[in-house]
Amino acid sequence: MTWQTELQALGKLEENVPLASRTTLGVGGNAAWLFRPFDQDGLIHAMKSVDKETLLFPIGRGSNLLITDQGIDGLVIDLSDLGMLKVDGVLVEAGAGVRLSKLAQLGVTHGLTGFEFMATVPGDLGGGVAMNAGAFGQQVSDVLLSIQLLTRDGEVKTLSRQTLDMSYRHTRLPKGTLILSAKFELQRENAAEVRQRMREMRKKRSDSQPLSMPNCGSVFKNPEGDYAARLIESVGLKGKQIGKANISTVHANFIVNQGDASCEDVLALMRLAKNAVKQETNIDLEPEVSLVGCSL
Ligand SMILES: Cc1cc2nc3c(=O)[nH]c(=O)nc-3n(C[C@H](O)[C@H](O)[C@H](O)COP(=O)(O)OP(=O)(O)OC[C@H]3O[C@@H](n4cnc5c(N)ncnc54)[C@H](O)[C@@H]3O)c2cc1C
Repeated sequence: MTWQTELQALGKLEENVPLASRTTLGVGGNAAWLFRPFDQDGLIHAMKSVDKETLLFPIGRGSNLLITDQGIDGLVIDLSDLGMLKVDGVLVEAGAGVRLSKLAQLGVTHGLTGFEFMATVPGDLGGGVAMNAGAFGQQVSDVLLSIQLLTRDGEVKTLSRQTLDMSYRHTRLPKGTLILSAKFELQRENAAEVRQRMREMRKKRSDSQPLSMPNCGSVFKNPEGDYAARLIESVGLKGKQIGKANISTVHANFIVNQGDASCEDVLALMRLAKNAVKQETNIDLEPEVSLVGCSL
C-alpha cells in the first residue's frame, strides 16, 4: 500500500492543489499533495506512513507566506481541524487549528488579558506560535507555557517555551516538526477593559493597513529602533509597482496583490526595497514573511 492510500483513510488527501487561494496574498503555485487530517490521531498515523524523503510543509491560514510560483513539491498539511480548546482559570490550551481571533475572544468571555493583540492578527495558533506573532507590545512568547509537537517519526513531545529560543517574530522549532497544540497562562482582567483594548487595536489596524487588498502583513521585520515602513517610504518606494504587485500607498511595509501578481513580482519589489534601504541607510531589512521555495 502506498502512503497516499493510507492517508486517504486518515483525512482528506488531494493531488496538485493550487496554493494561491490558500494564502492571504493570493500568490503561489500548486502543492503536489495537500492533506487535511480529520483529527490528531489521523495526523500521527500519517506522519508514520509518509516516506521520510517526502517534504512536509504545515500550513495554517497562509497569512504569512510568499510561496514560489513553482509550488511545493511535497505534502502540504492543513491543520485546521485540530480545534481543541480548553480554559481552566487563567490557563488556556488550544489546538494548532484554532483561529487567533477566537483565542482573543476568550479574553472577553473569561476576563483574561494577554491575547488581545490576536484580534488583529489573521492566522491560526500553529502559525502564530511558529512565527511568535505579536502586535501592540504583546507577543505569543509573553503568555506561552509549552507546546506539543509531532516529530517526523510520529512521536508526540512536549517542549517548554524556554527551549524554543523565541524572540521578535522568531521561534526555533526542531526541524521537520509540527505544532499540535499549545498551553498559555494569562492574567485576570476586567472583561470590559479587554474588549475596549481590542476595539482600539482593530481601529488602529483598519486606519493604517490596506486590509481590503490581498497582502501578507508586514513584509520586513522592523529593524531595532526604526520602522521598515518609514525606511521604505524614505527611499521613495511607497506606491511602487512591479507586474501586478505594489508597495501599498497606505502602508509601505505592505505589498498588495492587485490581481494575479506572481511570486517574482513580489520578490522583485522586496529586493528593490531592501537594496535601496541598504544603500541609503546601511540598514539590512530582514524578511518577516516566510519565503517558501524562494529567496531574496
Ligand atoms: C493583514 C495582516 C496583518 C498581520 N499582522 C500581523 C501582526 O500584527 N503581527 C504578526 O506577528 N503577524 C501579522 N501578520 C502575519 C500573520 O498573520 C502571522 O504571522 C500569523 O501568525 C501566521 O499564521 P498562519 O496560520 O496564517 O500561518 P501560515 O502563514 O500558514 O504559516 C506561517 C509559518 O508557520 C508555519 N506553521 C504553520 N502552522 C504550523 C504548525 N502547526 N506547526 C509548525 N509550523 C507551522 C508555516 O509552515 C509557515 O512557515 C499579519 C498578516 C496579515 C495578512
